[in-house]
Amino acid sequence: MKRSKAETITCGNCGKTGARIIHVSRSYGKGSALLVIENVPVVSCPRCGESYVTAATLREIDNIKRNCSKIASTRPVPVAAFV
Ligand SMILES: [Zn+2]
Repeated sequence: MKRSKAETITCGNCGKTGARIIHVSRSYGKGSALLVIENVPVVSCPRCGESYVTAATLREIDNIKRNCSKIASTRPVPVAAFV
């Protein structure tokens, strides 16, 4: 039986199979330079407990960072003042 949704890959860290790709939101920078990238594919390995992004993903993140002014959607962030 094949379950494509729960497809596992070989972990690049420990070399065992069973690692999974999960998609998470990651934030880079801070303040006005803060960039949130959603849906970043992260390899998560239950065997060695490691979670990491691949080199290809890192390249893509660099790309996004460089082009973020063009492709990022600016969302208003509510800021509450604590008085
Ligand atoms: Zn591993």
